[in-house]
This record gives sequence, C-alpha cells and structure tokens, in this order.
Amino acid sequence: MEVRKDRVVTIDYVLRDDSGKLIDSSAGAQPLAYLHGNENIIPGLERELEGKNPGDSFSCSVSPEDAYGDRDESLVFKVHKRDFGENVEVAPGMQFEAHGENGVQIVTVVGVNGDEVTLDANHPLAGETLHFDVKVVDVREATEEELEHGHVHAEDDCGDCCDCDDGECGEGCCD
Ligand code: ZN
Repeated sequence: MEVRKDRVVTIDYVLRDDSGKLIDSSAGAQPLAYLHGNENIIPGLERELEGKNPGDSFSCSVSPEDAYGDRDESLVFKVHKRDFGENVEVAPGMQFEAHGENGVQIVTVVGVNGDEVTLDANHPLAGETLHFDVKVVDVREATEEELEHGHVHAEDDCGDCCDCDDGECGEGCCD
C-alpha cells in the first residue's frame, strides 16, 4: 500500500543538520506514525514520502521554507530574570513552553547577563536545512476516528488527546 493522503504512515528516520550533527532519530525509540496529508509533519518531508511503499528507503534534504521556516530576529527579546520567579536557575540552552496566540511555542534561553535574560522564540530548527534518512515501515488506512481528529491514534482509543477537560491539549478533538 503506497503513501497517500489520509493513510497512516510509519517511518524510521534519522535527522541531521547541515554540519551532519544528529538532531533526532527514531533509532532506539518507537518509529514515527503520522497521518499523511494532515499537516502532522513538515511539508517537505511529507512531499518526499508521497507515493512511497513499505520497505522503501531514501534520503532527502528539506529547506527551511518546507520545514520550520526562516528565523525571525524580532522573536529574540530580553526579559528580567525575576520574570522566571524566585530561586529559578536560568541558564543558556534552557528551553520551556510558552502559550501564545499561535498555540504552544518553544522558547530558548540564549543569553544571561546579570539580571537580563535573552530569549529566542524561534522554533529551535527555524532556518535549518534538515537532512533525513527515512525508511517506510508501514502504511495502512486510517480509521474514521483518526480522520475526524486529523491525527494517529496509538491504541484503539484516543487516550492522549480526548481525555482532557480543559481543551488545552492543542488537539482539535478537545474543542
Ligand atoms: Zn484523537
């Protein structure tokens, strides 16, 4: 069965940056399962996967515009250390989640100078060309419930996205 819209695709992958540094990999973890054609993964990788079959392997490079976008320097800003609360260690490289207009954003501490903390709200992979080695493990039809929710369900039910009462999990099924 080939990869196409509204099918559940399972892949093993290795992701490296331009310098060849390992960013992420499914090795030693679960393969990644996602619902094809539903913006579950970056567009550039989805395009490369279209039409592939289980057992197919390929390598591809995805430019920032087809991945996490270009960096926006206006998203680099300074705050006061006390904004983090009392007795909180703030160090460069720390990442935390911030809830903004566009949902959950990852914010990275890029500098600490006295009481002044510099934050970067760009996606950590913004501006990066991503290099993937991918192997298609499995392709199956999605269930009706998966199509309705626009994402894959690991088990028969939707335990991780529909048990929340506050609608804050970011998955459409909670709205
Ligand atoms: Zn769901």
